Amino acid sequence: MRDETKAIHIPARRLQGSVSPPIQLTTTFEHGPAGEDLHGFEYIRDGNPNVDDLQTRLAVIEGADGAIAFGSGMAAASAVLTRLAPGARVIFHKSLYIDVRSLAQKLLPNWGLDCESIDLADAAARSQAFAKGVDLVWFETPSNPLIDILDIELICKQAKNSGAEVMVDATFTTPVVQKPLDLGATYVLHSLTKYMGGHSDVQGGSIAYRGDSSIADQLSETRRLTGGVLSPFNAWLISRGLQTLHCRMERHCANAHAVAEALEAHDRVARVRYPFLASHPGCDTAKRQMSMGGGMVSFDVVGGRAAAVKVASKVKLFINATSLGGVESLIEHRASIEGATSTTPGALLRLSIGLENAQDLIEDLYSALED
Ligand SMILES: *Cc1c(COP(=O)(O)O)cnc(C)c1O
Repeated sequence: MRDETKAIHIPARRLQGSVSPPIQLTTTFEHGPAGEDLHGFEYIRDGNPNVDDLQTRLAVIEGADGAIAFGSGMAAASAVLTRLAPGARVIFHKSLYIDVRSLAQKLLPNWGLDCESIDLADAAARSQAFAKGVDLVWFETPSNPLIDILDIELICKQAKNSGAEVMVDATFTTPVVQKPLDLGATYVLHSLTKYMGGHSDVQGGSIAYRGDSSIADQLSETRRLTGGVLSPFNAWLISRGLQTLHCRMERHCANAHAVAEALEAHDRVARVRYPFLASHPGCDTAKRQMSMGGGMVSFDVVGGRAAAVKVASKVKLFINATSLGGVESLIEHRASIEGATSTTPGALLRLSIGLENAQDLIEDLYSALED
């Protein structure tokens, strides 16, 4: 069975014949008089049928040995990082989702983790950093918001030779576009809040992994003890989103590719960052490891920060909002949103390309780029 079919048909929990699975909101489940487990569930924070459904579906479409769902992408990220023992060393790629970077700077030192941020695309920097010892390597490809492309297979091989595990935050691509576990990653992180939910109306996170079930046991114990759980309704909404993921990603990617090409042809655009454009330095690597170019496009406006903010103020169809992966197209001046610690160029605008007609999106950007 192919992935699109699996995403729709697994698992089928046909309570009383219902084709769409029921939502079970109960916080507690009946047990025997001496605490005997009667139904496989006990208390909502430990587990719930809708969360189980979602985890099964996530593991299947990712080709993982298992998946654990959390209340947010950040709860998922924290659960993996706190698996590490105090003293462990974590190497992050320098272009990183802002709150994971803040987590590494503000909280992980208290946990005794030694965090370093390097350019993982630089072979010499990589060898030097790995030579000092490393327990976990963490990156996004394409990265947020610079759209850096990193060679997953190469980095996984080198990290594993150094005895490290590898986390790929694949929020930007989803398993439809890229399967990091097949290329050697230990873990894949998704903010389910983005493409996987797909409609800008639900928050969640997940870790899919390759390895034995002790990983799932540890991650679900962390979730139980720190409370980063997903509600049954949110799990149900995300499961519903996964059924249309393949269709949506094809349209997101086709639209984004068309928008990227149109922007590249505009003389007020200094640079377009899109993995499948020949002008992207990572294009060959991207085409090897991604089936499509993804739905995210960043571009630098001629004239720098003020010119970029002006474009964001003039769009009519694109909505100025953070987040990504919904049906509607969003635009964001990331340097403004990231604030004082931002390392994002002031000229850069990030687009999350939705499911509208691509020509409407291009016309909106072209009219905003006019003086
Ligand atoms: C949004 C996002 C996260 C965090 O996920 P939340 O669901 O907001 O907690 C992590 N990584 C990337 C790349 C993201 O875009």
